[in-house]
Amino acid sequence: MKFVFADSLDFVDPAYDFIADRNGAGRAVHRDDQFPHEFLDVAPYDGILVSRGIVGDALILGKYTEAQLMRFRREGARRFLRYPKERFPDSMMMGDCGAFTYRNLPEPPYRAADTVEFYGDGGFTHGCSPDHLIFDFDDQGAERLPSEVPEDTRRRFEITQQNAAEFIHAAKSLGPRFVPMGVIQGWSAPSMADAAVGLAKMGYNYLAVGGTVPLRIEQIRRALAAVRDAVPQHVRLHLLGFGKIEQLADIERHGVTSFDTTSPLMRAFKDARKNYWVRSRTGELSYYTAIRIPQAIENNRLKNKALEGRINQEEARTLEKAALEGVRKVARREVGIEEALDAVMAYWDALNWDDEVSPSRRADSLNRQRRIYARTLEDRPWEGCDCRVCREGGVEALIFRNSNRNKRRGMHNLHVFHQHLCDFRADAA
Ligand SMILES: [Zn+2]
Repeated sequence: MKFVFADSLDFVDPAYDFIADRNGAGRAVHRDDQFPHEFLDVAPYDGILVSRGIVGDALILGKYTEAQLMRFRREGARRFLRYPKERFPDSMMMGDCGAFTYRNLPEPPYRAADTVEFYGDGGFTHGCSPDHLIFDFDDQGAERLPSEVPEDTRRRFEITQQNAAEFIHAAKSLGPRFVPMGVIQGWSAPSMADAAVGLAKMGYNYLAVGGTVPLRIEQIRRALAAVRDAVPQHVRLHLLGFGKIEQLADIERHGVTSFDTTSPLMRAFKDARKNYWVRSRTGELSYYTAIRIPQAIENNRLKNKALEGRINQEEARTLEKAALEGVRKVARREVGIEEALDAVMAYWDALNWDDEVSPSRRADSLNRQRRIYARTLEDRPWEGCDCRVCREGGVEALIFRNSNRNKRRGMHNLHVFHQHLCDFRADAA
């Protein structure tokens, strides 16, 4: 099973100075930054997915600046991402339309012809047909027929199929080395199977299962089983936006050949607890919580409090500094963890992170958080990892602070997940 990383300009500055908290001297955004496959010793994925919705254009505002967008279109995805085929042979450079970005529009803003042009300019090896998300998904035994679903749902199904029919035809201009992927959207396992049969008949040999982000693993399993049963064995399956990555065995059992996700990176700073990943001795993924020490001068919560006269900014900076020093001293074994936790929690208390007003509930929440952080500092997980993030940054990767630390932690997670996947593949072989 191939793991494709869905990029959204996830790079770090390799010269970032953690102590001064600033970028390397003269750093130019993107040019001097490094993507995970550049920063880490080994690329932690088998391919990269770029969504039109992330790149953006005149129709949909993306994450790229106008200059980046122009360079991307001019140079192609591989040069822009510095992910050359020579260095990463067999890697997938995959494109999709990013259906989530236009989910509220009556129909996709992209047509088959301009999508093919986008994939052609970008030099993609694989590209998805322009699909339209369907949101509701039937429970087992309660599957609705096409005549029973709302008109909008049926229309989204039909638009996705119609676009796929136009796309496979238009994609012929990209030559035989480009692999068109037909996207499956449906409201139930049977409707997804119908969609898959339709796409296979159009000539697709690679199908991408869409709309699975909000689904439970049981629903994904059911959808995959129905799709797999309905299409010939030579048709490959890709799972779009697969967040439940602990369930690798489930999807592999249903004949999925590739999936894309941002999960390992995103959970480093979006998850409340599972920020820093490790593998247990038995090969399971387990997690540590990163220690929140936000930048006092840039933190909006603190800014607002200062404006309201509830906290003095000088005081906040003193607390921030003590918290950082405490954690670093633990890493150097200069102080015990209780001393460091006192400083971390004093800063937390000043931030009143939970906006808890009742003193007793506030004390409870502080104690709970303190115990979670104690585990992180006691176990010293950064010492057990040999990836570049941990080797160079040590405990800095465990500090939840700014993009350079948070994304580094995300890259460490990609490294851990990649090892996990490699072992899984070795076991499955
Ligand atoms: Zn690491």
